[in-house]
Amino acid sequence: MTKESLKTSAFILRCLNYSESDLIVTFYSRNFGKLKGIAKGAKRSKKRFANVFEPFSLTNIIFSRKKTDALAFIESCEIIDHYSDIRQDLEKTLVASYFIDLADHFNPEGKKNIKVFELLQDFLILLGRENATDAIVRFFEMRLLRFAGYEPALDHCIRCNACVTNGSFYYFYPQEGGIKCAACARPERYEQPISAGTVRTLLLGKDMEIDKIKLVALSDSLATESRDILIGFIAYVLGREVKSLKVMEQIRKMYL
Ligand SMILES: [Zn+2]
Repeated sequence: MTKESLKTSAFILRCLNYSESDLIVTFYSRNFGKLKGIAKGAKRSKKRFANVFEPFSLTNIIFSRKKTDALAFIESCEIIDHYSDIRQDLEKTLVASYFIDLADHFNPEGKKNIKVFELLQDFLILLGRENATDAIVRFFEMRLLRFAGYEPALDHCIRCNACVTNGSFYYFYPQEGGIKCAACARPERYEQPISAGTVRTLLLGKDMEIDKIKLVALSDSLATESRDILIGFIAYVLGREVKSLKVMEQIRKMYL
């Protein structure tokens, strides 16, 4: 029986040495979602696979597989975009690696989600052109959470349903996936309130046109509050911290 060859564009998520000459590559593909495949002889055959398996590169792959959940056999892989404008810049490279890591963590194998694919595509182009700002990072997180089915409830109190009003303060509850107003939250003294401005900014960033994101500058307090909400929530949903986030934040602190 001959296996059918399938074709798709795909981002490289990660790449593992499998044997002396083979690599196991994980992709995020447009047509098949997250996909794991073996590139036979990849370390020897420079002609067939010439430096294509670098994280966050966009590629065209042709592969075949026995069953939908089986390891794919990568027949060929060609670069569409290597994002050299990102790779020339350490900070941008770390942000792109974080995006890829998040897309990897939030998506199960074999579940197609074109919105996630397009999100990666849009934000890598944006990152190549613009500075790596806090707004870009936080808005990517908001959108990824949403497309993966984990959008936090930020437009109303999850207990009394009252809409967010300017000048008020809120508290975020990762376990419950949303915010509570000060009256419902009955916060302990150590709990950090979040301003209505932070909540509104995140809501705005979730749908904002991609070209307008470069115009958004988060104040220090806005940046800190929105980071705390989203990172806390992501760690809660995943049940662990995302390593590439720590690396990105440490390096940014050191150099910037
Ligand atoms: Zn309330």
